Amino acid sequence: MPATPAKHDALVADLIDAVGAPHVLVDDDERAGYEIDWTGRYGGPCTAVVRPGSTNEVAAVLPLCARYGACVVTQGGNTGLVGGSVPRPTAPFTVVLSTQRLDAIGEADPDALQVTVGAGATLAAVRDRVAALDLDIPVDFAARDSATIGGAVATNAGGSRVVRFGTMRHHVAGVRAVLADGSVVGSLAGLPKETAGLHWPSLLAGSEGTLGVITEIRLRLVPTFANTATALVAVDGLSGAARLAGRLRCEVPSIDQLELIEPEAMRLVTGHLGRSMPLAVPPGGSYVLVECADRRDPLDDLTSALADPATAGVIVDALVTTDAAQRRQLIEHRDRLTEAIAADASASGTPVFKLDVAVPLDRLAELVSIARTAAAADGARLIPFGHVAEGNVHLNYLDTSDTERIAATVLTAVADAGGTISAEHGIGIAKARWLPLIRSAGERRASNAVRAALDPGRLLNPGVLDPGVPEA
Ligand SMILES: Cc1cc2nc3c(=O)[nH]c(=O)nc-3n(C[C@H](O)[C@H](O)[C@H](O)COP(=O)(O)OP(=O)(O)OC[C@H]3O[C@@H](n4cnc5c(N)ncnc54)[C@H](O)[C@@H]3O)c2cc1C
Repeated sequence: MPATPAKHDALVADLIDAVGAPHVLVDDDERAGYEIDWTGRYGGPCTAVVRPGSTNEVAAVLPLCARYGACVVTQGGNTGLVGGSVPRPTAPFTVVLSTQRLDAIGEADPDALQVTVGAGATLAAVRDRVAALDLDIPVDFAARDSATIGGAVATNAGGSRVVRFGTMRHHVAGVRAVLADGSVVGSLAGLPKETAGLHWPSLLAGSEGTLGVITEIRLRLVPTFANTATALVAVDGLSGAARLAGRLRCEVPSIDQLELIEPEAMRLVTGHLGRSMPLAVPPGGSYVLVECADRRDPLDDLTSALADPATAGVIVDALVTTDAAQRRQLIEHRDRLTEAIAADASASGTPVFKLDVAVPLDRLAELVSIARTAAAADGARLIPFGHVAEGNVHLNYLDTSDTERIAATVLTAVADAGGTISAEHGIGIAKARWLPLIRSAGERRASNAVRAALDPGRLLNPGVLDPGVPEA
């Protein structure tokens, strides 16, 4: 239900008391950008956008919202792709809590390889800050200039370096967060070892704003690897891509990225960049973008692994380079794909429909074939790409007419193959109704119990990660 004008005004007045008038946005044009997501597919109206500047201000804001019964949608960079960072059309009495002002970046500790950052600091800002100490962030992806560390923790983001370092949850050495009742929890000590019951980083990583608002993170860092080599490899198909990935991981210790680009995706991105196809692939072929990074030159390791008979059998052609400009060009084929898809969707007027899934590697080819058949049946265009070592493929459907039917076909096939309906983007609201495909009734009851304990009013990100309470 919408708030009565009196309730709305009283909440806004209290929010202004808590964080100051410049940080409570109520005008339509000021709120607009916070009310629609990156894909243009999800969004809804909010009562106000509040931008607290400290953990204490967040701790003041949340109980206020609870007192008035307002839902709270936490928003970082608003680059999430599953509709979780924007208000729901069905919950109009919503406050968007933006972490934009929680963007402080502390001094990195080069001995501990850690840095404390505000949840609203972007990946790129943290990367640039720690570079002077020869340190780097272990999680990286194309939305780095806007996506925040808090958002990446809340979604347990993946990206291109997972093959080497794992997902975001592995890099949270400590966290500070605020629960719905205003309690501040967690620690930023960054202790590499502690066994003392409930572990807040584990609980909050991947919780998508449903259990609390993350305000600060003690982030693990990795060394900068100055020597890099990049290859774009055309292979004979998805099984070949999986084989190549496995061999390279065995033979080349400096593997940093193994990215999958299907021919439809390569055609789209080269068109977007105004370039020609860098390599030809035969029908049914695929591309793998390989990035190596090391303290010493990784070129010899890479070229000899590509020439190895165990890998050469699946390789159709390859470009290998250590030249910075050429590397950048090759990497752009992957880095600018999501942007190319968004541009195409905006030109056609139908928002892209995205499914981010993962299956065991030996089921990847079968899954992509099912996804292509679903596109053809709908008259849609499928643009598949992903992270090959994790069996993670992003299925981007353009010009769709029946997204429900595509989701039902593809996500059921994913679950049947023993995969997951969300590899790295989260469940959000986009996939909430499909959660029972991969989580049993018992698991969903347990999740609900945790959520009810931490947020009894169920005000934090309603609808996200929520297929409804399973029957007893
Ligand atoms: C071009 C592009 C490329 C991308 N590539 C990848 C990729 O390779 N890998 C990948 O994993 N993702 C990718 N994404 C998706 C997205 O960038 C990530 O999900 C990212 O982690 C979201 O961060 P954000 O700050 O934008 O969060 P938002 O979009 O603002 O929020 C995402 C979710 O996290 C919650 N949240 C945000 N901040 C907090 C907080 N401080 N406390 C509690 N909850 C919070 C929100 O409520 C929401 O549910 C891509 C997106 C784009 C647009």
